[in-house]
Amino acid sequence: MSGRLKGKIAVVTAAGQGIGRAIAEAFAAEGAVVHASDLDLAKLEGLNAEKAALDVLSNEAVATYAASVGQVDILANVAGFVHHGTVLDCSDKDWDFSFDLNVKSMHRTIRAFLPGMLDRAAEQGSSGSIINLSSGASSLKGAPNRYVYGATKAAVIGLTKSVAADFVARGIRCNAICPGTVRSPSWEARVEDLGRNVGGKDKAMELFVSRQPMGRVGEPTEIAALAVYLAADESAFTTGTAIPIDGGWTL
Ligand code: NAD
Repeated sequence: MSGRLKGKIAVVTAAGQGIGRAIAEAFAAEGAVVHASDLDLAKLEGLNAEKAALDVLSNEAVATYAASVGQVDILANVAGFVHHGTVLDCSDKDWDFSFDLNVKSMHRTIRAFLPGMLDRAAEQGSSGSIINLSSGASSLKGAPNRYVYGATKAAVIGLTKSVAADFVARGIRCNAICPGTVRSPSWEARVEDLGRNVGGKDKAMELFVSRQPMGRVGEPTEIAALAVYLAADESAFTTGTAIPIDGGWTL
Protein backbone atom coordinates (compact mmCIF):
# COMPACT_ATOMS: atom_id res chain seq x y z
CA MET A 1 0.00 0.00 0.00
CA SER A 2 1.14 3.57 -0.50
CA GLY A 3 -0.34 7.03 -0.20
CA ARG A 4 -2.03 6.28 3.12
CA LEU A 5 -0.76 9.60 4.53
CA LYS A 6 -1.17 11.67 1.36
CA GLY A 7 -2.05 15.29 2.16
CA LYS A 8 -0.89 14.98 5.77
CA ILE A 9 1.88 16.90 7.49
CA ALA A 10 3.88 15.03 10.12
CA VAL A 11 6.43 15.90 12.78
CA VAL A 12 8.80 13.25 14.13
CA THR A 13 11.22 13.85 17.02
CA ALA A 14 14.45 11.84 17.45
CA ALA A 15 14.23 10.90 13.78
CA GLY A 16 17.98 10.46 13.35
CA GLN A 17 18.19 6.74 14.03
CA GLY A 18 16.34 3.65 15.19
CA ILE A 19 12.57 3.76 15.55
CA GLY A 20 12.29 7.51 14.90
CA ARG A 21 14.14 7.25 11.61
CA ALA A 22 12.05 4.27 10.50
CA ILE A 23 8.87 6.20 11.34
CA ALA A 24 10.02 9.29 9.40
CA GLU A 25 10.91 7.09 6.40
CA ALA A 26 7.59 5.22 6.53
CA PHE A 27 5.56 8.43 6.85
CA ALA A 28 7.34 9.89 3.80
CA ALA A 29 6.90 6.65 1.84
CA GLU A 30 3.16 6.85 2.54
CA GLY A 31 3.00 10.35 1.08
CA ALA A 32 3.18 12.63 4.14
CA VAL A 33 5.22 15.81 4.22
CA VAL A 34 7.62 15.01 7.05
CA HIS A 35 9.36 17.41 9.43
CA ALA A 36 12.14 15.31 10.93
CA SER A 37 14.12 16.59 13.89
CA ASP A 38 16.84 15.26 16.14
CA LEU A 39 19.27 16.59 18.72
CA ASP A 40 21.98 15.75 16.21
CA LEU A 41 21.19 17.28 12.80
CA ALA A 42 23.86 15.19 11.04
CA LYS A 43 21.95 11.99 11.82
CA LEU A 44 19.04 13.17 9.67
CA GLU A 45 21.11 13.04 6.50
CA GLY A 46 19.49 11.08 3.70
CA LEU A 47 15.93 11.38 5.01
CA ASN A 48 13.23 12.49 2.57
CA ALA A 49 12.07 15.24 4.94
CA GLU A 50 12.40 18.83 6.10
CA LYS A 51 15.25 18.51 8.59
CA ALA A 52 16.01 20.48 11.75
CA ALA A 53 18.10 20.21 14.89
CA LEU A 54 15.79 20.12 17.89
CA ASP A 55 16.54 19.45 21.54
CA VAL A 56 13.22 18.35 23.05
CA LEU A 57 14.58 19.24 26.50
CA SER A 58 14.23 22.93 25.68
CA ASN A 59 10.84 24.66 26.04
CA GLU A 60 12.06 27.56 23.98
CA ALA A 61 13.50 25.45 21.16
CA VAL A 62 10.33 23.36 20.92
CA ALA A 63 8.09 26.44 20.85
CA THR A 64 10.24 28.15 18.21
CA TYR A 65 10.33 24.99 16.11
CA ALA A 66 6.54 24.51 16.31
CA ALA A 67 5.99 28.12 15.25
CA SER A 68 8.28 27.63 12.24
CA VAL A 69 6.63 24.35 11.15
CA GLY A 70 3.05 25.60 11.59
CA GLN A 71 -0.06 23.39 11.51
CA VAL A 72 0.39 19.62 11.34
CA ASP A 73 -1.79 16.49 11.28
CA ILE A 74 0.59 14.05 12.92
CA LEU A 75 2.96 14.39 15.87
CA ALA A 76 5.20 11.41 16.63
CA ASN A 77 7.02 11.81 19.96
CA VAL A 78 9.92 9.38 19.79
CA ALA A 79 12.75 10.87 21.87
CA GLY A 80 13.59 8.73 24.89
CA PHE A 81 16.46 7.43 26.99
CA VAL A 82 17.05 4.14 28.85
CA HIS A 83 18.56 4.47 32.32
CA HIS A 84 19.95 1.11 33.44
CA GLY A 85 19.44 0.11 37.07
CA THR A 86 17.18 -0.34 40.06
CA VAL A 87 15.83 2.29 42.45
CA LEU A 88 19.15 2.05 44.32
CA ASP A 89 21.09 3.08 41.21
CA CYS A 90 18.84 6.02 40.38
CA SER A 91 19.99 9.39 41.73
CA ASP A 92 17.66 12.39 41.81
CA LYS A 93 19.54 13.67 38.80
CA ASP A 94 18.93 10.42 36.89
CA TRP A 95 15.25 10.55 37.82
CA ASP A 96 14.86 14.16 36.71
CA PHE A 97 16.72 13.66 33.43
CA SER A 98 14.70 10.57 32.50
CA PHE A 99 11.39 12.27 33.24
CA ASP A 100 12.49 15.40 31.40
CA LEU A 101 13.50 13.55 28.23
CA ASN A 102 10.94 10.72 28.23
CA VAL A 103 7.83 12.49 29.50
CA LYS A 104 8.11 16.26 29.79
CA SER A 105 9.40 16.44 26.21
CA MET A 106 6.00 15.12 25.11
CA HIS A 107 4.24 17.69 27.31
CA ARG A 108 6.33 20.36 25.56
CA THR A 109 5.73 19.21 22.00
CA ILE A 110 2.02 18.57 22.53
CA ARG A 111 1.52 22.00 24.10
CA ALA A 112 3.41 23.56 21.20
CA PHE A 113 1.76 21.66 18.30
CA LEU A 114 -1.75 20.89 19.57
CA PRO A 115 -3.30 24.35 19.01
CA GLY A 116 -2.31 24.20 15.32
CA MET A 117 -3.48 20.58 15.09
CA LEU A 118 -6.88 21.56 16.50
CA ASP A 119 -7.20 24.46 14.03
CA ARG A 120 -6.21 22.25 11.11
CA ALA A 121 -8.61 19.47 12.14
CA ALA A 122 -11.46 22.00 12.46
CA GLU A 123 -10.66 23.77 9.18
CA GLN A 124 -10.21 20.58 7.15
CA GLY A 125 -12.78 18.40 8.90
CA SER A 126 -9.91 15.94 9.31
CA SER A 127 -8.42 14.30 12.36
CA GLY A 128 -5.05 14.84 14.00
CA SER A 129 -3.01 12.01 15.47
CA ILE A 130 -0.47 12.14 18.30
CA ILE A 131 1.70 9.05 18.67
CA ASN A 132 3.84 8.63 21.79
CA LEU A 133 6.63 6.07 22.20
CA SER A 134 6.12 4.20 25.45
CA SER A 135 7.45 0.66 26.06
CA GLY A 136 6.47 -2.77 27.30
CA ALA A 137 8.57 -1.79 30.32
CA SER A 138 5.92 0.57 31.75
CA SER A 139 2.60 -0.04 33.48
CA LEU A 140 2.37 -3.13 31.23
CA LYS A 141 5.34 -4.98 32.72
CA GLY A 142 8.01 -4.63 35.38
CA ALA A 143 11.42 -5.22 33.80
CA PRO A 144 14.65 -5.76 35.78
CA ASN A 145 16.97 -2.75 35.83
CA ARG A 146 14.46 -0.50 34.15
CA TYR A 147 13.29 1.31 37.30
CA VAL A 148 13.05 4.94 36.23
CA TYR A 149 12.64 4.02 32.56
CA GLY A 150 9.56 1.94 33.43
CA ALA A 151 8.20 4.76 35.57
CA THR A 152 8.60 7.26 32.72
CA LYS A 153 7.04 4.97 30.14
CA ALA A 154 4.07 4.31 32.46
CA ALA A 155 3.69 8.08 32.73
CA VAL A 156 3.67 8.27 28.93
CA ILE A 157 0.64 5.97 28.90
CA GLY A 158 -1.14 8.16 31.47
CA LEU A 159 -0.30 11.30 29.52
CA THR A 160 -1.54 9.64 26.31
CA LYS A 161 -4.88 8.65 27.81
CA SER A 162 -5.38 12.10 29.35
CA VAL A 163 -4.75 13.91 26.06
CA ALA A 164 -7.01 11.42 24.28
CA ALA A 165 -9.82 12.01 26.79
CA ASP A 166 -9.56 15.80 26.62
CA PHE A 167 -9.56 16.10 22.83
CA VAL A 168 -11.58 13.08 21.66
CA ALA A 169 -14.48 15.28 20.58
CA ARG A 170 -12.26 17.83 18.82
CA GLY A 171 -10.72 15.69 16.10
CA ILE A 172 -7.52 14.72 17.89
CA ARG A 173 -6.50 11.14 18.66
CA CYS A 174 -3.61 10.21 20.93
CA ASN A 175 -2.14 6.70 21.20
CA ALA A 176 0.96 5.10 22.69
CA ILE A 177 3.15 2.41 21.13
CA CYS A 178 4.70 -0.06 23.59
CA PRO A 179 7.56 -1.94 21.92
CA GLY A 180 9.52 -4.84 23.31
CA THR A 181 13.21 -4.97 22.43
CA VAL A 182 13.87 -3.41 19.04
CA ARG A 183 17.14 -3.29 17.12
CA SER A 184 18.50 0.29 17.21
CA PRO A 185 21.87 1.97 17.78
CA SER A 186 21.14 2.58 21.48
CA TRP A 187 20.01 -1.03 21.90
CA GLU A 188 23.25 -2.26 20.27
CA ALA A 189 25.11 -0.15 22.86
CA ARG A 190 23.04 -1.72 25.68
CA VAL A 191 23.97 -5.17 24.37
CA GLU A 192 27.67 -4.19 24.45
CA ASP A 193 27.29 -2.90 28.03
CA LEU A 194 25.47 -6.00 29.25
CA GLY A 195 28.02 -8.18 27.44
CA ARG A 196 30.75 -6.82 29.70
CA ASN A 197 28.89 -8.24 32.74
CA VAL A 198 27.58 -11.53 31.41
CA GLY A 199 30.56 -12.86 29.47
CA GLY A 200 30.28 -11.43 26.02
CA LYS A 201 28.06 -9.78 23.47
CA ASP A 202 26.60 -13.07 22.18
CA LYS A 203 25.44 -14.02 25.67
CA ALA A 204 23.93 -10.56 26.15
CA MET A 205 22.11 -10.84 22.83
CA GLU A 206 20.79 -14.25 23.89
CA LEU A 207 19.41 -12.76 27.13
CA PHE A 208 17.56 -9.99 25.29
CA VAL A 209 16.18 -12.41 22.69
CA SER A 210 15.08 -14.96 25.29
CA ARG A 211 12.75 -12.38 26.90
CA GLN A 212 10.61 -12.40 23.81
CA PRO A 213 8.64 -15.60 23.15
CA MET A 214 8.96 -15.12 19.39
CA GLY A 215 12.69 -15.66 19.82
CA ARG A 216 13.92 -12.51 18.12
CA VAL A 217 14.10 -8.77 18.62
CA GLY A 218 11.88 -6.43 16.63
CA GLU A 219 12.92 -4.26 13.71
CA PRO A 220 12.30 -0.49 13.64
CA THR A 221 10.27 -0.93 10.43
CA GLU A 222 7.81 -3.12 12.35
CA ILE A 223 7.22 -0.32 14.85
CA ALA A 224 6.96 2.19 12.00
CA ALA A 225 4.20 0.10 10.39
CA LEU A 226 2.10 0.52 13.56
CA ALA A 227 2.90 4.23 13.63
CA VAL A 228 1.65 4.58 10.04
CA TYR A 229 -1.58 2.82 10.99
CA LEU A 230 -2.08 5.13 14.00
CA ALA A 231 -1.29 8.20 11.88
CA ALA A 232 -3.63 7.24 9.04
CA ASP A 233 -7.38 7.70 8.83
CA GLU A 234 -7.84 3.92 8.84
CA SER A 235 -7.38 4.10 12.64
CA ALA A 236 -9.93 6.92 12.98
CA PHE A 237 -11.88 5.00 15.68
CA THR A 238 -8.78 4.37 17.83
CA THR A 239 -7.70 6.68 20.63
CA GLY A 240 -6.24 6.45 24.13
CA THR A 241 -4.71 3.04 23.48
CA ALA A 242 -1.32 1.67 24.57
CA ILE A 243 -0.51 -0.98 21.99
CA PRO A 244 2.12 -3.65 22.74
CA ILE A 245 4.30 -4.69 19.80
CA ASP A 246 6.82 -6.94 21.42
CA GLY A 247 7.08 -10.50 20.08
CA GLY A 248 4.94 -11.67 22.98
CA TRP A 249 7.05 -10.16 25.78
CA THR A 250 4.05 -8.79 27.72
CA LEU A 251 1.84 -11.84 27.10
P1 NAD B 1 17.85 5.42 19.89
O1 NAD B 1 17.85 5.44 21.39
O2 NAD B 1 18.88 4.56 19.22
O3 NAD B 1 17.99 6.90 19.31
C1 NAD B 1 17.52 7.99 20.03
C2 NAD B 1 17.59 9.24 19.19
O4 NAD B 1 17.16 10.31 20.05
C3 NAD B 1 18.99 9.61 18.70
O5 NAD B 1 18.96 9.91 17.31
C4 NAD B 1 19.34 10.85 19.54
O6 NAD B 1 20.17 11.77 18.85
C5 NAD B 1 17.97 11.43 19.82
N1 NAD B 1 17.93 12.30 21.00
C6 NAD B 1 18.55 12.08 22.18
N2 NAD B 1 18.33 13.12 23.01
C7 NAD B 1 17.52 13.98 22.35
C8 NAD B 1 16.96 15.25 22.66
N3 NAD B 1 17.19 15.82 23.85
N4 NAD B 1 16.20 15.87 21.73
C9 NAD B 1 15.98 15.30 20.52
N5 NAD B 1 16.48 14.10 20.16
C10 NAD B 1 17.27 13.46 21.07
O7 NAD B 1 16.39 5.04 19.35
P2 NAD B 1 15.43 3.81 19.72
O8 NAD B 1 16.13 2.76 20.53
O9 NAD B 1 14.78 3.44 18.44
O10 NAD B 1 14.34 4.46 20.71
C11 NAD B 1 13.38 5.38 20.26
C12 NAD B 1 12.21 5.42 21.25
O11 NAD B 1 11.61 4.13 21.34
C13 NAD B 1 12.59 5.82 22.68
O12 NAD B 1 11.57 6.60 23.25
C14 NAD B 1 12.68 4.48 23.37
O13 NAD B 1 12.50 4.58 24.77
C15 NAD B 1 11.55 3.74 22.71
N6 NAD B 1 11.70 2.28 22.81
C16 NAD B 1 12.78 1.66 22.25
C17 NAD B 1 12.93 0.30 22.40
C18 NAD B 1 14.10 -0.44 21.83
O14 NAD B 1 14.30 -1.62 22.16
N7 NAD B 1 14.91 0.15 20.95
C19 NAD B 1 11.96 -0.44 23.10
C20 NAD B 1 10.86 0.23 23.64
C21 NAD B 1 10.74 1.59 23.48
